[in-house]
Amino acid sequence: MSTDSYHSALPTTSIMASEENHNTFDVRRIRADFPILQRTVKGKPLVYLDNAATTQKPTAVIDALTAYYTGCNANIHRGIHTLADEATAAFEATREAARRFIGAASTEEIIFTRGTTESINLVAASWGREHIREGDEIILSTLEHHSNIVPWQMVAEERGARIRVVPVDEDGAFQYEAFLKLLSTRTRIVSIVHVSNALGVVQPIEDIIRAAHGVGALVLVDGAQSAVHLDIDVQRLDCDFFACAAHKIYGPTGVGILYAKHSILSTMAPYQGGGEMIREVRFTGTTYNDPPFRFEAGTPNIADVVAFRAAIEYVEAIGKPVIRAHEEALLAQVSERVLKIPGVRILGDIPGRIGVLSFTVDGVHPQDIGILLDNQGVAVRTGHHCTQPLMHRFGIAGTTRASLALYNTSEEMDFFATSLEKVVRMLS
Ligand code: PLP
Repeated sequence: MSTDSYHSALPTTSIMASEENHNTFDVRRIRADFPILQRTVKGKPLVYLDNAATTQKPTAVIDALTAYYTGCNANIHRGIHTLADEATAAFEATREAARRFIGAASTEEIIFTRGTTESINLVAASWGREHIREGDEIILSTLEHHSNIVPWQMVAEERGARIRVVPVDEDGAFQYEAFLKLLSTRTRIVSIVHVSNALGVVQPIEDIIRAAHGVGALVLVDGAQSAVHLDIDVQRLDCDFFACAAHKIYGPTGVGILYAKHSILSTMAPYQGGGEMIREVRFTGTTYNDPPFRFEAGTPNIADVVAFRAAIEYVEAIGKPVIRAHEEALLAQVSERVLKIPGVRILGDIPGRIGVLSFTVDGVHPQDIGILLDNQGVAVRTGHHCTQPLMHRFGIAGTTRASLALYNTSEEMDFFATSLEKVVRMLS
């Protein structure tokens, strides 16, 4: 198969193939693109509301994986044979798609990792170890996922630096004035979640970045949840680092992106050593490759990276504003009904919340709610959502979280709300 024939064999989405679908949103057609949505759970149709944990995958992504393994599989970058060429081209085509997806200036600024967690660890271990010194400060917020806390704690401990935490109010809103007070010339980096996975609240990220730059600090944006819902333009945001993962954008697991400004990346030391990241190796010493390859030691997750392009193109073909409008309507519909259930409290119930309904019910354990909803085929997440400090702030062990995606329907919102009403009545 020539490069051309391999690429022409790659699947496209039914949405892309249909001109008439441009700018319209037909959720039934969308659902037909996701085979897993046909399955049942405990004899009931699956209602998948755990999208903030991971999204389901369209046929275009599944087919891209199969097409890669059946028509192309080879190791990349080093081979001179045809398959190696084709695999390299497909891998690098995803880098270009990812660049476009987040608005980076160059593919040299896109590093493939295993996920958001590894992207943040890379920055903490490489940039952090070099630039964070005793007495320096790292600013995080109460909303952070453990992935954006623990790597910084490790560096802070090693370097004798201090972590400062921006508080949230009772509604889960980021306290911007308190953030400004924490900023100082001691601040080396501000690492903040763009959209909270636990609550869906959106941080004033442009203002945060501008203010942090004002004191000479860098900013890492944890975009694990925002990349799928919001149009991201890292050049406009002017963030220094942006981390996200394919599996939350309808793509495969095991693939993440780290964006970093080239001027920063070119001075950063490698994260891991091995093949691919070197220019020349001698026992007397090694010189390193340029970014992004300097940060991609060893054989990467080639097939999943290749299939990630299909996910990006799928989302681009529909358009995030259209998807967001659909999800906003569903969230408003379900929030209104759930709020009427006695004893329910929605956390993060502030304007602009995205994709997430996180709530507690007086006297009822979230896990019991989750188990009983699962008996109805409804998949929600319960617990601390890897945000234990946030749960601690609210004085709770966890919440029940329903999180939305483009394939969820109004009927599903009604079914979820009705099931929840019954479950709460049973458990109260
Ligand atoms: N940050 C946030 C806000 C998340 O929601 C998640 C995953 O849920 C992560 C980081 C970790 O992401 P990954 O699973 O891609 O490592």
